[in-house]
Amino acid sequence: MESVEQINEIAAKLKGSKVNMLRGGIWKPRTRPDSFQGIGEEGLQWLKTAGIENNLPVTVEVAHPRHVEQALKLGIDCLWIGARTTVNPFLVQEIATSLDGVDIPVFVKNPINPELELWIGAIERFYNAGIRKLGAIHRGFSSYEKSKYRNVPNWQIPIELKRRLPELPVLCDPSHIGGSRELIGPIAQTAMDLSFEGLMIEVHPDPSKALSDKNQQLIPAEFLALIESLVVRKKSVDDVIFLNLLEELRDRIDKIDEDILQFMAERMSIAREIGQYKKENNMTILQVERWNEILRTRQLSGLQKDLSRDFIIQLYEKIHDESIYHQTQVMNTSETQKQKH
Ligand code: PEP
Ligand code: MN
Repeated sequence: MESVEQINEIAAKLKGSKVNMLRGGIWKPRTRPDSFQGIGEEGLQWLKTAGIENNLPVTVEVAHPRHVEQALKLGIDCLWIGARTTVNPFLVQEIATSLDGVDIPVFVKNPINPELELWIGAIERFYNAGIRKLGAIHRGFSSYEKSKYRNVPNWQIPIELKRRLPELPVLCDPSHIGGSRELIGPIAQTAMDLSFEGLMIEVHPDPSKALSDKNQQLIPAEFLALIESLVVRKKSVDDVIFLNLLEELRDRIDKIDEDILQFMAERMSIAREIGQYKKENNMTILQVERWNEILRTRQLSGLQKDLSRDFIIQLYEKIHDESIYHQTQVMNTSETQKQKH
């Protein structure tokens, strides 16, 4: 949020659309002290009024009990905890404690680092303070590696959150994951395909003049076109032909998974045999050249099969770890132990 005119214009343009809440960043957690830090307290009233006039509940980010107090005083309808706050259990606890006995929905963004337990821990602190209208927001994770995303999605983390807390609604924030306009649509669609319950997307009347994150703001018309274009699929269907086909495909996957495990067991059994030879010949377990060669050839072969490089590397790191584990077991088994078994 930057001015009263700006929020009024946006709220009016989004009125009557699929939007069901208006967000305004009032206190902005910015990386550098010389960037725009948000308009602060006076913006709360502008936001609330824009919401009332356009029939939209409103939400702000709170990062401190003082923010909570001001937001509650002005009747803000919903709060969210930013990624930079979720990383700090002391602060999360202080905010949660300041909400004890208050009935207000709270959404918790994931921490900037990819750590599911920290995310769940923050959610639990609000639950323990009596907040029952709880939700999570997936906004991607910081990573040192270069990527087309501003914050890499690591979809498996919110998916695991949904598995662990199936009742918790999880929204996706494609603006902060993408960091650039053209990525917002595809990320939003992926979130819908993964059964996310909603989206949080940044909108600005003139992104080129935005005081923060200008590359990830959509104008209202682009935003409305985007949410209209999203395909929201059903979680289940009752078409019998389709269900049979799905079952058949799942059977094939089950069979392939069984084969994969069988192959892995055979691979590890060979690794143990190698371990035994290495032991008899007094050779170290790790041969770096051999490991490099495996990584190189498996990447080549996997890429030809349309598997992603990251996947192949991670897969082989795991396989290699397991193989080393089996070899060390052989190495560490003394002759007497072996006789006992
Ligand atoms: C925001 O939503 O504007 C924001 C600061 O996001 P995050 O906490 O995800 O960085
Ligand atoms: Mn932002």
